[in-house]
Amino acid sequence: MSSDSISSLAGRHAIITGGGRGIGAAIATKLDHLGAKITLMGRTEAALEQKCEELANARALRVDVTDENSVKQAFSNAGEAFGPVNILVNNAGAADSAPLERTSQEIWSKMLDVNLTGLFYCSKAAIPSMKQAGWGRIINIVSTAGLKGYAYVSAYCAAKHGAIGLTRSLALEMVRTDITVNAICPGYTNTELLENSINNIMEKTGMNREKAEQQLKSSNPQNRFIEPEEVAATVAWLCLPGSESITGQSIAIAGGEIM
Ligand code: NDP
Repeated sequence: MSSDSISSLAGRHAIITGGGRGIGAAIATKLDHLGAKITLMGRTEAALEQKCEELANARALRVDVTDENSVKQAFSNAGEAFGPVNILVNNAGAADSAPLERTSQEIWSKMLDVNLTGLFYCSKAAIPSMKQAGWGRIINIVSTAGLKGYAYVSAYCAAKHGAIGLTRSLALEMVRTDITVNAICPGYTNTELLENSINNIMEKTGMNREKAEQQLKSSNPQNRFIEPEEVAATVAWLCLPGSESITGQSIAIAGGEIM
């Protein structure tokens, strides 16, 4: 039987934040296919419930990753239902854009809270459970914006660079356990978040849709958007046997862009 056959992750409990749509939903489908028990977390219960209906063994839990009490409560509920957490995919995120001079304190804090502090809260909540289980995978869905700068999203970039630092440090703290910690850094990926960026460019510059899309695609040498399923396949690879020595890494999914 190949190592990525159905049921390779049977018995593993995976928590995916922001699992109701986009990249998180694709990761849920992939881990479900591999037999994991899945807890989907996010703020919009209806979207989570709808996604759970497609999956074999999944539960939805409302959580705001920027609120530590909400995270603690949700992780405790998830553990009671499905047992210790083995896989944490820190995927919830948001990308507001503005030139730095027009970046308000509110945007700055929102970007750091959801794209960085949320990872801290969720990782802290998951680690005791992973240690108890004796095996864990923390996978942070970061961005190429964690590896290089982009104009007009400095708060998002700062948070994502911070997420890379957190990944590297936590990986070193965990090296004497069977817990690995890695970051996945996709380029522009086909989701609602990207749709918002395209609409924003059209609105701010007057470009038509084709030109706005092309502007974003051209940062990828393959001249295309990444599909959420490509990110999900990399998450699965990090969870399956054979990736035990891969920790503290930032894996770019960006069509050959050198950062
Ligand atoms: P979407 O906007 O489609 O999905 C974001 C998800 O995060 C939603 O499910 C949303 O659910 C959830 N979320 C947002 N804020 C919170 C919060 N405070 N608490 C809990 N959940 C929250 O984005 P993508 O799927 O595109 O992005 C997923 C991740 O991938 C993000 O971290 C993003 O930065 C990263 N990424 C995306 C790229 C892209 O081009 N699309 C490229 C590189 C990285 P709800 O609003 O219901 O809470």
